[in-house]
Amino acid sequence: MIEFLSLKKITAKYADEIHDAVLRVVDSGWYLQGEETKNFENNYANYIGTKHCVGCANGLDALIWIFRAYIELGVMKAGDEVIVPANTYIATILAITENGLKAVLVEPNSETLELDENLIESAITSRTKAIALVHLYGQCAYTDKIGEICKKYNLKLVEDNAQAHGCLYNGIKTGAIGDAAGHSFYPGKNLGAFGDGGAVTTNDSDLAEAIRALANYGSQKKYVFKYAGRNSRLDEIQAAILNVKLQHLDEDLAIRRSVAQRYHKFITNPLIKLQRIDDWNAHVFHLYPILCNRRDELQEYLKDNGIQTIIHYPIPPHKQECYKDWNNMQLPITEQIAQEELSLPISPVMTDEEVETVIKIINLFK
Ligand SMILES: *Cc1c(COP(=O)(O)O)cnc(C)c1O
Repeated sequence: MIEFLSLKKITAKYADEIHDAVLRVVDSGWYLQGEETKNFENNYANYIGTKHCVGCANGLDALIWIFRAYIELGVMKAGDEVIVPANTYIATILAITENGLKAVLVEPNSETLELDENLIESAITSRTKAIALVHLYGQCAYTDKIGEICKKYNLKLVEDNAQAHGCLYNGIKTGAIGDAAGHSFYPGKNLGAFGDGGAVTTNDSDLAEAIRALANYGSQKKYVFKYAGRNSRLDEIQAAILNVKLQHLDEDLAIRRSVAQRYHKFITNPLIKLQRIDDWNAHVFHLYPILCNRRDELQEYLKDNGIQTIIHYPIPPHKQECYKDWNNMQLPITEQIAQEELSLPISPVMTDEEVETVIKIINLFK
Protein backbone atom coordinates (compact mmCIF):
# COMPACT_ATOMS: atom_id res chain seq x y z
CA MET A 1 0.00 0.00 0.00
CA ILE A 2 1.38 3.42 -0.98
CA GLU A 3 0.11 5.73 1.74
CA PHE A 4 -1.08 9.23 0.89
CA LEU A 5 1.17 10.57 3.65
CA SER A 6 3.03 8.71 6.41
CA LEU A 7 3.62 11.02 9.36
CA LYS A 8 5.21 8.09 11.13
CA LYS A 9 7.93 7.80 8.49
CA ILE A 10 8.48 11.57 8.39
CA THR A 11 8.91 11.66 12.16
CA ALA A 12 11.23 8.63 12.08
CA LYS A 13 13.54 10.53 9.73
CA TYR A 14 14.29 13.11 12.45
CA ALA A 15 13.46 10.96 15.49
CA ASP A 16 16.62 11.53 17.53
CA GLU A 17 16.55 15.30 17.22
CA ILE A 18 12.82 15.40 17.95
CA HIS A 19 13.09 13.16 21.00
CA ASP A 20 15.89 15.36 22.36
CA ALA A 21 13.86 18.51 21.78
CA VAL A 22 10.73 17.15 23.47
CA LEU A 23 12.65 15.80 26.47
CA ARG A 24 14.48 19.10 26.83
CA VAL A 25 11.13 20.85 27.26
CA VAL A 26 9.69 18.16 29.53
CA ASP A 27 12.71 18.37 31.81
CA SER A 28 12.83 22.17 31.74
CA GLY A 29 9.61 22.60 33.74
CA TRP A 30 8.56 25.51 31.48
CA TYR A 31 5.71 24.75 29.04
CA LEU A 32 4.24 27.99 27.71
CA GLN A 33 5.62 31.36 26.60
CA GLY A 34 9.26 30.43 27.08
CA GLU A 35 12.52 30.24 25.18
CA GLU A 36 11.45 27.56 22.68
CA THR A 37 8.53 29.65 21.44
CA LYS A 38 10.63 32.80 21.34
CA ASN A 39 13.36 30.98 19.38
CA PHE A 40 10.88 29.49 16.96
CA GLU A 41 9.25 32.88 16.35
CA ASN A 42 12.67 34.38 15.60
CA ASN A 43 13.77 31.47 13.43
CA TYR A 44 10.53 31.42 11.46
CA ALA A 45 10.47 35.20 10.96
CA ASN A 46 14.04 34.90 9.62
CA TYR A 47 13.09 32.01 7.38
CA ILE A 48 10.05 33.77 5.93
CA GLY A 49 11.77 37.14 5.83
CA THR A 50 9.48 39.28 7.97
CA LYS A 51 10.15 41.49 10.97
CA HIS A 52 7.65 39.66 13.16
CA CYS A 53 6.32 36.19 13.78
CA VAL A 54 3.66 35.61 16.45
CA GLY A 55 2.89 32.02 17.37
CA CYS A 56 -0.68 30.97 18.07
CA ALA A 57 -2.82 27.89 18.59
CA ASN A 58 -3.53 26.88 14.97
CA GLY A 59 -3.76 28.15 11.41
CA LEU A 60 -7.42 29.10 11.59
CA ASP A 61 -6.71 31.29 14.62
CA ALA A 62 -3.74 32.88 12.84
CA LEU A 63 -6.12 34.06 10.09
CA ILE A 64 -8.85 35.03 12.56
CA TRP A 65 -6.35 37.17 14.53
CA ILE A 66 -5.17 39.04 11.44
CA PHE A 67 -8.69 40.25 10.61
CA ARG A 68 -9.59 40.81 14.26
CA ALA A 69 -6.44 42.92 14.75
CA TYR A 70 -7.28 45.00 11.67
CA ILE A 71 -10.71 45.62 13.23
CA GLU A 72 -9.22 46.53 16.63
CA LEU A 73 -6.77 48.91 14.90
CA GLY A 74 -9.62 50.60 13.01
CA VAL A 75 -8.47 49.45 9.56
CA MET A 76 -11.62 47.35 8.98
CA LYS A 77 -15.08 47.19 10.47
CA ALA A 78 -17.98 44.76 10.53
CA GLY A 79 -19.65 44.49 7.12
CA ASP A 80 -16.48 45.26 5.16
CA GLU A 81 -15.73 42.89 2.29
CA VAL A 82 -12.82 40.52 1.77
CA ILE A 83 -12.16 38.83 -1.56
CA VAL A 84 -11.27 35.15 -1.24
CA PRO A 85 -10.86 32.27 -3.71
CA ALA A 86 -14.05 30.20 -3.82
CA ASN A 87 -12.14 26.90 -3.96
CA THR A 88 -10.12 27.39 -0.77
CA TYR A 89 -10.20 25.18 2.31
CA ILE A 90 -13.04 26.56 4.43
CA ALA A 91 -10.75 27.93 7.18
CA THR A 92 -9.85 31.00 5.10
CA ILE A 93 -13.52 31.88 4.80
CA LEU A 94 -14.34 31.08 8.43
CA ALA A 95 -11.68 33.58 9.52
CA ILE A 96 -13.47 36.30 7.54
CA THR A 97 -17.06 35.52 8.57
CA GLU A 98 -16.14 34.90 12.23
CA ASN A 99 -15.06 38.55 12.36
CA GLY A 100 -18.36 39.85 10.94
CA LEU A 101 -16.70 40.62 7.62
CA LYS A 102 -18.27 39.63 4.33
CA ALA A 103 -16.48 37.00 2.25
CA VAL A 104 -16.73 37.68 -1.48
CA LEU A 105 -16.06 34.44 -3.34
CA VAL A 106 -14.09 34.73 -6.57
CA GLU A 107 -13.41 31.85 -8.93
CA PRO A 108 -9.95 30.34 -9.49
CA ASN A 109 -8.22 29.97 -12.83
CA SER A 110 -9.15 26.55 -14.18
CA GLU A 111 -5.52 25.70 -15.05
CA THR A 112 -3.46 27.03 -12.15
CA LEU A 113 -6.34 26.35 -9.70
CA GLU A 114 -5.33 29.58 -7.91
CA LEU A 115 -7.39 32.81 -7.55
CA ASP A 116 -8.02 34.24 -11.03
CA GLU A 117 -6.33 37.67 -11.15
CA ASN A 118 -8.65 38.72 -13.99
CA LEU A 119 -11.84 38.28 -11.95
CA ILE A 120 -10.82 40.31 -8.92
CA GLU A 121 -11.51 43.86 -10.07
CA SER A 122 -15.13 43.23 -10.99
CA ALA A 123 -15.72 41.90 -7.44
CA ILE A 124 -14.38 45.06 -5.77
CA THR A 125 -16.89 47.48 -4.21
CA SER A 126 -16.53 50.56 -2.00
CA ARG A 127 -16.56 48.22 1.02
CA THR A 128 -13.76 45.94 -0.14
CA LYS A 129 -10.88 46.14 2.33
CA ALA A 130 -8.72 43.11 1.64
CA ILE A 131 -7.84 40.12 -0.48
CA ALA A 132 -7.34 36.84 1.37
CA LEU A 133 -4.93 35.16 -1.01
CA VAL A 134 -4.54 31.41 -0.58
CA HIS A 135 -1.43 29.65 -1.86
CA LEU A 136 -3.51 26.56 -2.46
CA TYR A 137 -1.84 23.16 -2.77
CA GLY A 138 1.47 24.94 -2.02
CA GLN A 139 1.59 27.01 -5.21
CA CYS A 140 2.16 30.75 -5.00
CA ALA A 141 -1.10 32.51 -5.92
CA TYR A 142 0.42 36.01 -5.93
CA THR A 143 0.91 37.76 -9.23
CA ASP A 144 2.18 41.27 -10.03
CA LYS A 145 -1.33 42.14 -11.18
CA ILE A 146 -2.77 41.20 -7.77
CA GLY A 147 -0.17 43.46 -6.16
CA GLU A 148 -1.17 46.32 -8.48
CA ILE A 149 -4.86 45.83 -7.68
CA CYS A 150 -4.14 45.99 -3.95
CA LYS A 151 -2.27 49.25 -4.44
CA LYS A 152 -4.85 50.78 -6.76
CA TYR A 153 -7.81 50.06 -4.45
CA ASN A 154 -5.88 50.37 -1.17
CA LEU A 155 -6.57 46.77 -0.13
CA LYS A 156 -4.73 44.78 2.52
CA LEU A 157 -3.21 41.61 1.17
CA VAL A 158 -3.63 38.78 3.68
CA GLU A 159 -1.87 35.56 2.71
CA ASP A 160 -3.12 32.14 3.75
CA ASN A 161 0.22 30.35 3.79
CA ALA A 162 -1.05 27.21 5.55
CA GLN A 163 -0.01 25.01 2.62
CA ALA A 164 3.00 26.92 1.32
CA HIS A 165 5.82 27.27 3.90
CA GLY A 166 9.02 27.88 1.96
CA CYS A 167 7.38 28.77 -1.35
CA LEU A 168 9.24 31.48 -3.30
CA TYR A 169 7.95 34.20 -5.60
CA ASN A 170 10.83 35.97 -7.40
CA GLY A 171 13.08 35.25 -4.44
CA ILE A 172 10.57 36.40 -1.79
CA LYS A 173 8.88 33.82 0.43
CA THR A 174 5.13 33.61 0.45
CA GLY A 175 4.14 34.88 3.88
CA ALA A 176 6.35 37.93 3.32
CA ILE A 177 4.67 39.24 0.16
CA GLY A 178 1.48 40.71 1.59
CA ASP A 179 0.64 42.78 4.67
CA ALA A 180 0.23 39.75 6.92
CA ALA A 181 0.11 35.98 6.58
CA GLY A 182 -1.42 33.10 8.50
CA HIS A 183 0.52 29.83 8.77
CA SER A 184 -0.64 26.43 10.01
CA PHE A 185 1.53 23.78 11.64
CA TYR A 186 -1.18 21.11 11.59
CA PRO A 187 0.67 17.74 11.59
CA GLY A 188 -0.01 17.01 7.91
CA LYS A 189 1.28 20.37 6.63
CA ASN A 190 4.74 20.70 5.08
CA LEU A 191 5.98 22.13 8.39
CA GLY A 192 3.92 20.14 10.86
CA ALA A 193 3.86 19.97 14.65
CA PHE A 194 2.67 17.05 16.81
CA GLY A 195 -0.65 18.67 17.49
CA ASP A 196 -2.06 22.06 16.56
CA GLY A 197 0.03 25.15 16.00
CA GLY A 198 -0.02 28.31 13.92
CA ALA A 199 1.64 31.68 13.42
CA VAL A 200 1.22 35.10 11.87
CA THR A 201 4.09 36.74 10.00
CA THR A 202 4.08 40.44 9.19
CA ASN A 203 6.28 43.53 8.92
CA ASP A 204 3.56 45.62 10.58
CA SER A 205 4.64 46.18 14.20
CA ASP A 206 1.24 47.48 15.36
CA LEU A 207 -0.50 44.46 13.89
CA ALA A 208 1.99 42.04 15.45
CA GLU A 209 1.58 43.68 18.85
CA ALA A 210 -2.22 43.54 18.68
CA ILE A 211 -2.16 39.87 17.62
CA ARG A 212 0.25 38.93 20.39
CA ALA A 213 -2.18 40.45 22.88
CA LEU A 214 -5.36 39.03 21.28
CA ALA A 215 -3.96 35.49 21.38
CA ASN A 216 -3.11 35.91 25.07
CA TYR A 217 -6.54 36.92 26.50
CA GLY A 218 -6.13 40.41 25.04
CA SER A 219 -3.38 41.18 27.52
CA GLN A 220 -0.09 42.98 26.96
CA LYS A 221 0.72 43.28 30.65
CA LYS A 222 -0.12 40.56 33.15
CA TYR A 223 -3.68 40.98 34.51
CA VAL A 224 -4.31 44.07 32.37
CA PHE A 225 -6.66 43.46 29.42
CA LYS A 226 -6.70 45.78 26.43
CA TYR A 227 -8.87 43.58 24.19
CA ALA A 228 -11.48 40.90 24.84
CA GLY A 229 -9.13 38.26 23.51
CA ARG A 230 -8.87 34.50 23.77
CA ASN A 231 -6.36 31.90 24.79
CA SER A 232 -4.63 30.89 21.54
CA ARG A 233 -0.99 30.19 22.27
CA LEU A 234 1.67 28.01 20.69
CA ASP A 235 3.15 25.75 23.38
CA GLU A 236 6.79 25.02 24.15
CA ILE A 237 6.76 21.38 23.06
CA GLN A 238 5.30 22.23 19.65
CA ALA A 239 7.74 25.12 19.25
CA ALA A 240 10.71 22.84 20.11
CA ILE A 241 9.57 20.28 17.52
CA LEU A 242 9.02 23.02 14.93
CA ASN A 243 12.53 24.35 15.59
CA VAL A 244 13.91 20.92 14.64
CA LYS A 245 11.69 20.47 11.60
CA LEU A 246 12.29 24.00 10.30
CA GLN A 247 16.01 23.19 9.95
CA HIS A 248 15.11 20.36 7.57
CA LEU A 249 12.27 22.06 5.74
CA ASP A 250 14.19 23.08 2.62
CA GLU A 251 15.62 19.59 2.12
CA ASP A 252 12.11 18.14 2.56
CA LEU A 253 10.70 20.60 0.04
CA ALA A 254 13.39 19.64 -2.48
CA ILE A 255 12.25 16.01 -2.26
CA ARG A 256 8.59 16.98 -2.65
CA ARG A 257 9.55 19.03 -5.70
CA SER A 258 11.47 16.16 -7.30
CA VAL A 259 8.50 13.81 -6.79
CA ALA A 260 6.23 16.41 -8.38
CA GLN A 261 8.61 16.91 -11.30
CA ARG A 262 8.48 13.22 -12.06
CA TYR A 263 4.68 13.10 -11.83
CA HIS A 264 4.51 16.13 -14.07
CA LYS A 265 6.83 14.72 -16.70
CA PHE A 266 5.74 11.10 -16.79
CA ILE A 267 1.99 11.13 -16.16
CA THR A 268 0.87 11.13 -19.78
CA ASN A 269 -2.59 9.57 -19.60
CA PRO A 270 -4.88 11.82 -21.71
CA LEU A 271 -7.71 11.25 -19.20
CA ILE A 272 -5.71 13.14 -16.58
CA LYS A 273 -5.29 16.90 -16.46
CA LEU A 274 -2.32 18.29 -14.51
CA GLN A 275 -2.12 21.60 -12.69
CA ARG A 276 -0.41 24.33 -14.69
CA ILE A 277 2.92 25.18 -13.09
CA ASP A 278 4.71 28.28 -14.38
CA ASP A 279 7.58 28.47 -11.89
CA TRP A 280 8.90 25.44 -10.05
CA ASN A 281 10.31 27.55 -7.21
CA ALA A 282 6.86 28.99 -6.64
CA HIS A 283 5.36 25.64 -5.60
CA VAL A 284 6.20 23.53 -2.55
CA PHE A 285 3.77 20.71 -3.35
CA HIS A 286 1.95 20.37 -0.09
CA LEU A 287 -0.38 18.50 -2.43
CA TYR A 288 -0.09 17.25 -5.98
CA PRO A 289 -3.55 17.71 -7.48
CA ILE A 290 -4.70 16.09 -10.72
CA LEU A 291 -8.07 16.51 -12.44
CA CYS A 292 -10.11 13.75 -14.05
CA ASN A 293 -13.75 13.84 -15.08
CA ARG A 294 -14.08 10.22 -13.93
CA ARG A 295 -12.45 11.08 -10.63
CA ASP A 296 -14.39 8.74 -8.32
CA GLU A 297 -13.76 5.82 -10.64
CA LEU A 298 -10.06 6.73 -10.81
CA GLN A 299 -9.83 6.91 -7.02
CA GLU A 300 -11.38 3.44 -6.70
CA TYR A 301 -9.03 2.07 -9.36
CA LEU A 302 -5.98 3.51 -7.57
CA LYS A 303 -7.20 2.13 -4.25
CA ASP A 304 -7.65 -1.32 -5.81
CA ASN A 305 -4.05 -1.03 -7.00
CA GLY A 306 -2.74 -0.11 -3.56
CA ILE A 307 -2.51 3.68 -3.95
CA GLN A 308 -4.17 5.92 -1.40
CA THR A 309 -5.43 9.33 -2.57
CA ILE A 310 -7.48 12.16 -1.02
CA ILE A 311 -9.90 14.69 -2.54
CA HIS A 312 -9.17 18.38 -1.79
CA TYR A 313 -12.00 19.28 -1.41
CA PRO A 314 -15.15 17.34 -2.22
CA ILE A 315 -17.72 20.04 -1.28
CA PRO A 316 -16.89 23.69 -1.96
CA PRO A 317 -17.54 26.22 0.84
CA HIS A 318 -20.55 27.78 -0.93
CA LYS A 319 -22.32 24.39 -0.98
CA GLN A 320 -21.84 23.78 2.76
CA GLU A 321 -24.71 23.83 5.23
CA CYS A 322 -22.90 26.41 7.39
CA TYR A 323 -23.13 28.91 4.49
CA LYS A 324 -26.77 28.28 3.50
CA ASP A 325 -27.20 31.74 1.99
CA TRP A 326 -24.59 30.88 -0.65
CA ASN A 327 -25.97 27.46 -1.61
CA ASN A 328 -27.58 28.77 -4.82
CA MET A 329 -24.52 30.65 -6.04
CA GLN A 330 -23.11 29.56 -9.38
CA LEU A 331 -19.37 29.01 -9.26
CA PRO A 332 -18.83 26.55 -12.09
CA ILE A 333 -15.01 26.35 -12.03
CA THR A 334 -14.95 25.80 -8.28
CA GLU A 335 -17.68 23.17 -8.60
CA GLN A 336 -15.86 21.41 -11.41
CA ILE A 337 -12.62 21.29 -9.39
CA ALA A 338 -14.57 19.80 -6.46
CA GLN A 339 -15.86 17.10 -8.80
CA GLU A 340 -12.59 16.35 -10.60
CA GLU A 341 -9.74 16.95 -8.14
CA LEU A 342 -7.70 14.09 -6.71
CA SER A 343 -4.47 14.49 -4.71
CA LEU A 344 -1.73 11.93 -5.29
CA PRO A 345 0.63 10.68 -2.59
CA ILE A 346 3.51 13.11 -2.08
CA SER A 347 5.90 13.49 0.84
CA PRO A 348 9.59 13.78 1.71
CA VAL A 349 9.70 10.06 2.54
CA MET A 350 8.31 8.66 -0.69
CA THR A 351 10.68 6.26 -2.43
CA ASP A 352 11.60 6.40 -6.13
CA GLU A 353 9.97 3.03 -6.54
CA GLU A 354 6.67 4.27 -5.06
CA VAL A 355 6.66 7.29 -7.37
CA GLU A 356 7.29 5.04 -10.36
CA THR A 357 4.46 2.72 -9.34
CA VAL A 358 1.99 5.61 -9.02
CA ILE A 359 2.96 6.90 -12.47
CA LYS A 360 2.72 3.47 -14.06
CA ILE A 361 -0.68 2.63 -12.55
CA ILE A 362 -2.15 6.04 -13.47
CA ASN A 363 -0.96 5.76 -17.04
CA LEU A 364 -2.72 2.38 -17.31
CA PHE A 365 -6.12 3.85 -16.29
CA LYS A 366 -8.53 3.52 -19.20
C1 LIG B 1 -4.84 23.77 7.12
C2 LIG B 1 -5.35 25.02 6.55
C3 LIG B 1 -5.83 26.05 7.36
C4 LIG B 1 -6.09 25.90 8.82
O1 LIG B 1 -5.04 25.49 9.60
P1 LIG B 1 -5.31 24.72 10.98
O2 LIG B 1 -3.98 24.74 11.63
O3 LIG B 1 -5.77 23.35 10.63
O4 LIG B 1 -6.33 25.50 11.74
C5 LIG B 1 -6.17 27.26 6.76
N1 LIG B 1 -6.11 27.41 5.43
C6 LIG B 1 -5.69 26.43 4.62
C7 LIG B 1 -5.62 26.69 3.15
C8 LIG B 1 -5.31 25.20 5.13
O5 LIG B 1 -4.91 24.23 4.31
